[in-house]
Amino acid sequence: MTFRARHLLGIEHLAPEEIRTVLDLADRYVELNRRTVKRTDALAGLTQINMFFENSTRTQASFELAGKRLGADVMNMSVAQSSVKKGETLIDTALTLNAMHPDLLVVRHPQSGAVNLLASKVNCAVLNAGDGKHEHPTQALLDALTIRRAKGRIQRLTVAICGDIAHSRVARSNLLLLGKMENRVRLIGPPTLMPAGVADFGCEVYDDMQAGLEGADVVMMLRLQKERMDGGFIPSEREYYHRYGLDAEKLTHAKPDAIVMHPGPMNRGVEIDGELADDINRSVIQDQVEMGVAVRMACMDLLAQNLRAERGRAALGETYA
Ligand code: ASP
Repeated sequence: MTFRARHLLGIEHLAPEEIRTVLDLADRYVELNRRTVKRTDALAGLTQINMFFENSTRTQASFELAGKRLGADVMNMSVAQSSVKKGETLIDTALTLNAMHPDLLVVRHPQSGAVNLLASKVNCAVLNAGDGKHEHPTQALLDALTIRRAKGRIQRLTVAICGDIAHSRVARSNLLLLGKMENRVRLIGPPTLMPAGVADFGCEVYDDMQAGLEGADVVMMLRLQKERMDGGFIPSEREYYHRYGLDAEKLTHAKPDAIVMHPGPMNRGVEIDGELADDINRSVIQDQVEMGVAVRMACMDLLAQNLRAERGRAALGETYA
């Protein structure tokens, strides 16, 4: 088993064998989560603090459930009521929390890089639950697990990522992971929603949905991230749906057994047809939610093992000093 990371800040820092380690352990947690009694003590005695500076439904619930099923003491810090609103800086908040001796800190923040900064100031393991347009590593890992279970592998697949690529941390983390695992990635969307320098990403770029979907094994749809747009990126939602919204007709261009994914929250009738999203023969959107809990359990378990080993070595060092 290989997993060296001290924090989980992004896919960027993970080696392919570390990704495989997370997925293998997560597969075991999927089994546990399907039992009536869903409890282990991998994190018993440890304190997990969830700090979400940006709204979240599924990710926060998923991390909370994951921590509880592993036996951690879980605290959700409501940022709306915290002193952050009173002007405390991120670093002050981090130092205050650090003094409470958490072991795992799960952080979501609207600014890219904020979670990395925080990780450099605390003594515990930090998990990035999404930072601005930068990374959302557990999303890419849960997507990889969903794909691996549906397709039997996570290599040599053609994966089309469609929509608002420019504002999406999900797209970025997925691009990194799918590239590391040697898949062919296609980005599909209007040029206004493609990030600058997209040609350097080593993937194919399409502004025509039909052409981009041709022969795809996996079709990953993204939400239009209006909260990160500061101008008119699309003419209208209707026009966008017409050209880039996934419906049964457009899906016929992908492979006949192609699966449909969406990280949520979905805008039905904007980036995806509601009926297709609910079609259990094509859509794995509910599986993604299920895999999310298992992947977060695996990540926290592995980080906690490293944390314990590191503290053990430090204690030994003190004894023999
Ligand atoms: N839930 C995902 C994220 O936090 C995707 C989205 O919001 O569209 O990035």
